[in-house]
Amino acid sequence: MALFEVPRPSVGIAGSDDVFPVHRIYCIGKNYAAHVREMGGNPQRSEPVYFLKPADSVVRSGATIPYPPRTSDLHHEIELVVAIGRGGSNIAAEDAASHIFGYAVGIDLTRRDLQAAAKDKGAPWDTAKSFENAAPISVIRPAAQTGHPDSGRIWLEVNDEVRQDGDIADMIWPVADAIADLSTFYTLAAGDLLFTGTPEGVGALQPGDRVAGGVSGIAEISLQISNR
Ligand code: MN
Repeated sequence: MALFEVPRPSVGIAGSDDVFPVHRIYCIGKNYAAHVREMGGNPQRSEPVYFLKPADSVVRSGATIPYPPRTSDLHHEIELVVAIGRGGSNIAAEDAASHIFGYAVGIDLTRRDLQAAAKDKGAPWDTAKSFENAAPISVIRPAAQTGHPDSGRIWLEVNDEVRQDGDIADMIWPVADAIADLSTFYTLAAGDLLFTGTPEGVGALQPGDRVAGGVSGIAEISLQISNR
């Protein structure tokens, strides 16, 4: 018998009362050339970087979250999110679509100052990427409705000012290739989410900021950072 109940994180599904239970949250870093450049890297030599966030770091769109502790440089990264509906390992890129339940838009919240310090020391990124409320996410739009988009505007606004404005067509590792590669490292499972990287224009959020974003044809997200 379990000693106590542990909440099961979940994400909403567009047009449905059902929810998508979250198993793991995988993230890809350095997946848009212009963002690799703004972070001081060289996209020509860029290999995908993977990291994970805890499943319970999901936050539903419309939420108000506190400014997180131990940072003074909380950054927004708007990202297309893939929801895995069927697991597997060593998935071929041409089979990847059959493993996808749907698509959402998420914000990979990042304590950039902690990430910079970790990079300097060759240390893990966990405290920079994995913390409470670090994975705000919209409802998931089933692929049965959207198909498998390979282009579309992805944007983020802070207090009605556009900060990020890109296109998912500019991914270095498109979704199918990313799933194929990721599934050589991990056995993917139904309930996994994959944050697919952010375009250029990342920047700092402040207490009280109102954040909105989206991917055309998929979903929109809103988020409020509470005043301290
Ligand atoms: Mn990211």
